[in-house]
Amino acid sequence: MERRTAAFAHFFRRCALKKQGKWTGQLGYPQFKTKKKGLGSFRLTGSIVVSEKAIVLPRLGRLPLKEREYLPTKGVQILSAIVSEEAGHWYVSVQMEEEQAVPENIGPVVGIDLGVKSLATLSDGTVITNPRHLKRRLKKLKRLQRVVSRRKKGSKNRKKAVRRLAKLHRQIRHQRSNTLHQVTTRLAKTKSVLVIEDLHVSGMLKNHRLAQAIGDVGFYEFKRQLLYKASWYGARVVLADRWEPSSKRCSGCGWLDEDLILADRTFHCERCGLVLDRDLNAAINLEQLAGSFLGQSKRLWSRWLWHEAQASGETGGEEAGTKR
Ligand SMILES: [Zn+2]
Repeated sequence: MERRTAAFAHFFRRCALKKQGKWTGQLGYPQFKTKKKGLGSFRLTGSIVVSEKAIVLPRLGRLPLKEREYLPTKGVQILSAIVSEEAGHWYVSVQMEEEQAVPENIGPVVGIDLGVKSLATLSDGTVITNPRHLKRRLKKLKRLQRVVSRRKKGSKNRKKAVRRLAKLHRQIRHQRSNTLHQVTTRLAKTKSVLVIEDLHVSGMLKNHRLAQAIGDVGFYEFKRQLLYKASWYGARVVLADRWEPSSKRCSGCGWLDEDLILADRTFHCERCGLVLDRDLNAAINLEQLAGSFLGQSKRLWSRWLWHEAQASGETGGEEAGTKR
């Protein structure tokens, strides 16, 4: 009750101030926080000390850590800490300041086509497969959702079912995030220039058939991680215009296939006869954009080797292009 009266006291005080024209901030009727959602997170500033096994936070005191060696213990100034909760698990992350030397990056230039079928296709032929955490667990998710809806509202058993569902959601979220981090770190560390298509994700999400797959991959998050990691590891990210027809253009001669639809998995050029995996073709186009961007184009030969091998039927499947 105390909190409620405090909230109303603030509200009425602000109302009075507003009448006098002294309150310019937001003014809203006090509202209860929802009980259904998690607690979310909060930020703490002040003296924060991290030891090997525990963290000492202002107002909360010493809290033992379950996962060790994640937080920096020596020689860094910790500015603040964020404590968060997700389906019964508690996390702490710290913000710190550190001088970072950016290493010299001598990796190759690469175009990346982010896809639905596979997570990403690189212009050097590497295909990063989509782990599809969501799809694999969708059946279980649906079952748990059904269990929740069958339980009586407000009952203990419903609460238990809700907790189980939240746990599964958490697992899926963490696995997805882990995969994405691994891929983006590897790319930023090993390539010097990365060209990606700046996709109009919200527009694509309106298409429901695609929505789930795209949500699964997390295009926006991919781009965000790549951008900040590139700055850490000395790589550059080129964002190609989203209207650049990277999948419709032949990477060999520039011919445009206006009739290409999403279901066409292979690109057939009617002018020069190039036959290539659709995503690989798009990735090579993106890489060439970097070429025009940086004033260089150095991988024509390897693409033609690939093309010839493809034509004579020596290579099959997507892994073929990894040979360089
Ligand atoms: Zn062509």
